[in-house]
Amino acid sequence: MKCKEARKLISPYIDNELNQGEKALVKKHVFGCSKCHYHYLMIKKTVFLVRSTRGSVSIIYSSTQLN
Ligand SMILES: [Zn+2]
Repeated sequence: MKCKEARKLISPYIDNELNQGEKALVKKHVFGCSKCHYHYLMIKKTVFLVRSTRGSVSIIYSSTQLN
């Protein structure tokens, strides 16, 4: 698998949208290629941040309502 192909599949890989065969290929490439591994970590971090930001926004909103 080429870097270009692997990177296109990293996002669906994180979202668990790939089949077993594709997942295995992406995993093999990402963990064997430092550039793609970095890319993978960045996307993972971004997805996590977006999700946690959404979560804390609602926490701020509900605590504002309480005060
Ligand atoms: Zn690569």
